[in-house]
Amino acid sequence: MSTMPPPHAEPTRHDPDVLVIGGGIVGLFCAYHLRRAGVGVTVLERGPVGGPMSCSYGNTGFVGTQGSTPLAEPGVPAQGLRWLLNPESPFYIRPRWDGELLRWLWHFRRACNEHDARAGFGVLVDLKKRSLDILRELCAAGDLAPFFTAQGMVLAYNTPQGFDKACRSVPEAVAHGVPLRVLGPGELDALEPDTEFDVHGALYNEEGAYLRVPDFLVAFARMLEGMGVEIHPHTEAVGFEVAGREVRRVRTTRGDFHPREVVVAAGTWSAECARRLGVGLMLQPAKGYSVTVKAPRDAPRRPLLLGEGKVALVPLGDRLRFGGTLELSGMDATISRRRVDGILRTVRTYLPRLETTETVETWSGFRPCTPDGIPLIGRAEPYRNLCVASGHGHIGMGLAPAGGKLIAQIITGERPDIDPAPFRVGRHGGRTRRRTG
Ligand SMILES: Cc1cc2nc3c(=O)[nH]c(=O)nc-3n(C[C@H](O)[C@H](O)[C@H](O)COP(=O)(O)OP(=O)(O)OC[C@H]3O[C@@H](n4cnc5c(N)ncnc54)[C@H](O)[C@@H]3O)c2cc1C
Repeated sequence: MSTMPPPHAEPTRHDPDVLVIGGGIVGLFCAYHLRRAGVGVTVLERGPVGGPMSCSYGNTGFVGTQGSTPLAEPGVPAQGLRWLLNPESPFYIRPRWDGELLRWLWHFRRACNEHDARAGFGVLVDLKKRSLDILRELCAAGDLAPFFTAQGMVLAYNTPQGFDKACRSVPEAVAHGVPLRVLGPGELDALEPDTEFDVHGALYNEEGAYLRVPDFLVAFARMLEGMGVEIHPHTEAVGFEVAGREVRRVRTTRGDFHPREVVVAAGTWSAECARRLGVGLMLQPAKGYSVTVKAPRDAPRRPLLLGEGKVALVPLGDRLRFGGTLELSGMDATISRRRVDGILRTVRTYLPRLETTETVETWSGFRPCTPDGIPLIGRAEPYRNLCVASGHGHIGMGLAPAGGKLIAQIITGERPDIDPAPFRVGRHGGRTRRRTG
């Protein structure tokens, strides 16, 4: 945009160039790249930045090249049906009549094929690699460095079938530049000498890295303020005023804003925000849980993924966090004891001697999920000044850094360094009627 100020000019207080709605990892990375491009940015966050309502608060923080496979894969519908019958399984859909959920499931089912899964993997792994490069640079030194750890990660499997399937995925991962390899005899013990495993086999990704949340978010927000980004916590966007194809005014619980551009980066709540503007987003909240305990003496030193059980473990200094479960039960944040027990039971299956320690926190959060697993990043038709950055699903921490750069490039008119087509906001169809307010 030719009307942008030079890089270090002061942004105007209530008329920012760009207003970002949502102060989770995605909104903050949009703000970071926009500000670096010299744009005046204001971020609205309904709660405190890094607060527990945000999905970016209590996750396991895995970044790096691991986990780039979309949720929609061949075989998932059949496996999903088996899991539905088990109250402790890692996946659950609350049966209900909900047109949006049914449409989402229809698109999800359609994406569960070899071709789409491979294409999705390629897109996601590329975004993750670019994100890792950004994080490495950003966290190399300074205030963010203590919250980024890159010392590799282990993927463990406790069944021959699970391990064989994982081994079969290695060549494709390697072909995409992911340094994944099968661990030989004794290597797991050498990597994790304190922890006793009961597993069939394990893989290792030396690029495994993680962010310590929510501390990273809090420190990142402080850094952004230092760069001139205005952050308004406890400020909720509650309505919009539009004129033709432009969003003219954003009403909030703390006054109105008249930005030139708006980015909806409100995680799973982006669907509700966009609906107010008549834009339909194909998003479902996928609830997950984490349990944070005081770190036992025999805790793993690196992040660890328990393959079949779909549980992640991450060491956080004097704490250890377990995360897992994907529940499509709408916006219900209730913590199901049975699902949490399912996570803990999975941990005990792979790590039977892990010392039981005091639970510090049990948390649930909503992953903003698209049916094909690819985030929605780009302009939202029919508006000329509205972008969406959401739908980062189960790997938003690992996608947000490069996704935010794409948003900045779209808004400033700079040529994007990745193809924006796979992220197109309207790709699932879905205009809705605009609600007033
Ligand atoms: C158990 C679990 C484990 C996970 N582990 C990992 C992992 O290891 N690696 C990984 O990459 N990802 C992981 N994820 C996924 C990751 O947490 C999400 O993809 C990511 O946090 C999404 O970020 P976001 O900024 O889009 O959404 P959020 O973090 O939810 O942020 C959206 C923000 O918008 C605010 N907001 C909403 N509406 C409004 C409004 N109207 N006005 C103002 N503000 C508003 C909300 O308060 C919120 O803070 C995990 C998720 C879960 C649940």
